[in-house]
Amino acid sequence: MRQYKLAVTTVTRQTCTYCSGGCGILMYSLGDGSKNAKPSVIHVEGDPDYPVNRGTLCPKGASLLDFINSPNRLRRPQLRTPGASAWTDISWDDALDRIAP
Ligand code: SF4
Repeated sequence: MRQYKLAVTTVTRQTCTYCSGGCGILMYSLGDGSKNAKPSVIHVEGDPDYPVNRGTLCPKGASLLDFINSPNRLRRPQLRTPGASAWTDISWDDALDRIAP
């Protein structure tokens, strides 16, 4: 018998950011913060306790795991200055300073 794959995971409650619906999701991740453990999200599902979606997700929400693990996903804030044609990486502090100085 195979071990239940979510038995050793950490559950984090989050909100789907795909659209303005804001459905509640449960993110299951491996990695407990120890030195050689690499954290990774391995499963995403709807949060049954969340009043907006009550455990359901639309097809976009159901594909969040692919969105999270996509090699094309932006992992740092970027800035394109006026007149420039290219984006450059900036730090999170710089990005937040530009939003709320
Ligand atoms: S699960 Fe679907 S409906 Fe809900 S917030 Fe995400 S994209 Fe919108």
